[in-house]
Amino acid sequence: MRQFSSYLLIVTGVILITCSVVNGDDMKYRGLTPEEEYVIVHGGTEIPYTGRYVDTFEDGVYVCRRCGSPLFRSEAKFGAHCGWPAFDLAIEGAVETRPDPDGVRTEILCASCGGHLGHLFTGEGYTETDSRHCVNSISMDFIPADRIGTIFFAGGCFWEVENAFEHTSGVLEALSGYMGGTTDNPSYADVCSGTTGHAETVKVVFDTSVVTFKELAMIFFEIHDPTQVNRQGLDTGTQYRSSVFYNTQEQLTVLEELVRILVSQGYEVVTELVPACDFWPADDYHQNYFDNNEIRASCHTRVCRFPQD
Ligand code: FE
Repeated sequence: MRQFSSYLLIVTGVILITCSVVNGDDMKYRGLTPEEEYVIVHGGTEIPYTGRYVDTFEDGVYVCRRCGSPLFRSEAKFGAHCGWPAFDLAIEGAVETRPDPDGVRTEILCASCGGHLGHLFTGEGYTETDSRHCVNSISMDFIPADRIGTIFFAGGCFWEVENAFEHTSGVLEALSGYMGGTTDNPSYADVCSGTTGHAETVKVVFDTSVVTFKELAMIFFEIHDPTQVNRQGLDTGTQYRSSVFYNTQEQLTVLEELVRILVSQGYEVVTELVPACDFWPADDYHQNYFDNNEIRASCHTRVCRFPQD
């Protein structure tokens, strides 16, 4: 039903004027230095104890140097004293393995771009996971926790909203789930029943040095219709309401400014601006739904609504 509604809206959506910056597909690979290319593209190894993250233990996230995808959380880093950064756990789905060309080791690569990261060793007994992801510093960038922002957007079908932010530069994580209801850990069926009060919500974690909260909020207001009450297109019900669950006063100030601009443009905005509360991630099959099912069409096509676009 949802796929049907998406396709139907695409047909009607072609008459809309889309922004010059369209959501999705704006993620580009970073240019690499010869040293980075040697490791990331050609599977080289940096000299032990020379990498910039060997002794880094601050809170934050390690992302792929080439594509920016999150790879490891700082909580997984441990002192293996092997000369390279070591992690006992990768972020789910972030890292792929394959037999190394040397016929002995297991190579690890970024699951998003295929860039070489290092090697996986098991059975060494370092930590409870008994795994050591031995990673070249040069294959990663470290984003300290104070540079990471989080916001929760509800704007109709979360498959669509997640897809839009998943492909936005600076977004480290977009996760579908539920917020704003009265029960704990609701199921998809619970939320669809309309009795729990939750909205289909996407948690967006972002690198504030790459994308600002205002830029993300503008995308949100332009990929869904903030004037529709308890619906987006053919998806109807309170779970499809337009809401932003904010975390800080600064975020609220930005949101109120954007709503004022939209109202001045003639939009009767119904988007609720409410403090964030408990977020309940949806089941795995809802995550990355469009990418995993190779659905490219979307009814959440970005439409210009701000004069400065
Ligand atoms: Fe990558």
